[in-house]
Amino acid sequence: MSAFEDDLRAAVGRMRDVGRTWLRPLGEEADRLGRPIPPDHEFFTMLVREGVMRRGLTPGGSERRTVRNVVVGEEGAYWDRGALVTLPGPGLGGAPVRKMGTPEQRERFLAPFRSEDRPRWAAFAMTEPGAGSDVARIAMRADRDGDEWVLNGQKMYSSNSGRADWVVVFATVDPSAGRNGHRAFVVERDRPGFVFLRNEAKMGVRAYETSSFVLEDCRLPADNLLGGDAYYEGRANRGFGGAMETFNATRPIVAVHAVGIARSALDHARAFVDTEFPAHATRRRRRALERLVEIRRGIEQGRRLCIRAAELVDAGRPNALEASVAKLYCPPVALAAIRTAQDVVGDAGVRRDRFLEKLTRDVKMLDIGEGTQQIQRRVIARHIVGADVVR
Ligand SMILES: Cc1cc2nc3c(=O)[nH]c(=O)nc-3n(C[C@H](O)[C@H](O)[C@H](O)COP(=O)(O)OP(=O)(O)OC[C@H]3O[C@@H](n4cnc5c(N)ncnc54)[C@H](O)[C@@H]3O)c2cc1C
Repeated sequence: MSAFEDDLRAAVGRMRDVGRTWLRPLGEEADRLGRPIPPDHEFFTMLVREGVMRRGLTPGGSERRTVRNVVVGEEGAYWDRGALVTLPGPGLGGAPVRKMGTPEQRERFLAPFRSEDRPRWAAFAMTEPGAGSDVARIAMRADRDGDEWVLNGQKMYSSNSGRADWVVVFATVDPSAGRNGHRAFVVERDRPGFVFLRNEAKMGVRAYETSSFVLEDCRLPADNLLGGDAYYEGRANRGFGGAMETFNATRPIVAVHAVGIARSALDHARAFVDTEFPAHATRRRRRALERLVEIRRGIEQGRRLCIRAAELVDAGRPNALEASVAKLYCPPVALAAIRTAQDVVGDAGVRRDRFLEKLTRDVKMLDIGEGTQQIQRRVIARHIVGADVVR
């Protein structure tokens, strides 16, 4: 076995321990109470105490980082996808800083995440009330004023932004220019003009907050423009392109969360079969197990698609098609797995199996976030036939 595989196995083992002890119970509690895990929860304090901010939750290096995040992410989502997303770290905000930021910006914004004082989060904000799938329509304005930028507008559905130290905010210098006007800024939460609006009430994945905020004449030093002016010179749509590259890198990780959820439904149904249909009840048992095999096939295939899309990211090769295929394939696998598990559990499902009901609500978000299923179809169609045929 290679050193990378050894490292991965250890990382998955560590995630399994954290998942069993913390993610599952905290996710179920957040679902019951309808509120995210508080940022000052002892779980996060424990992670800081154990040095997780400095060395990460799971041991190991940065080799094949995306593949690693996919494999470990599946395990985390198996225990609870909502609680997984609350783990401290730069999260979705980290990807654009790594991809678009200058070396100085990477150090300035990411180094504090390695300090040991407290848990820290960052966030990513593209979506607006008038711009979801069609990100070219973002209306958050960015105007230059001497050495500063002034941002005005509203963002919504930004995950973890309620507790983030900073948020990567996509804005436009010229709304009439569509995607060519896009710029990415790091906005610190304590800047005057950053007004938190609310946490949205979600049907699932309630352990993390998804929030709306407004920027009102929010002034930023020129240095908070990701990549600096030079990054956007020469290629008009570089800001938009940076966001798309971010999505291509994160889609396989989000897609594999559906694989983890599917596996969770499978194990739940399997445990039910073992308890309710012991070996001597052969016919019912065999029929139930045959149905579970169908779930297994989707899980294996979905995992492979995610790993393939992640391998391309790590190799620095284009992966837009593979990332969208993975993101299109996996959430329906999880939904089908939960439905099959509900059938197998039978009247217990009708009586209200809280766990499967929660998974049904949790997985729905994966159809929407990081590009809806329709948007993935459009991306795939464009790659296959070279035209935007899906309307
Ligand atoms: C739990 C959760 C967390 C999120 N976290 C973040 C975050 O951290 N940061 C962030 O920026 N955003 C986040 N989002 C927002 C998410 O990315 C958007 O919800 C998503 O892009 C869809 O946008 P919308 O909700 O405005 O739907 P719309 O774009 O209005 O779409 C509505 C429906 O129309 C369909 N549709 C739209 N356009 C087309 C088209 N051209 N062709 C065919 N069908 C189309 C869509 O598929 C969808 O079914 C989050 C969303 C959720 C639910």
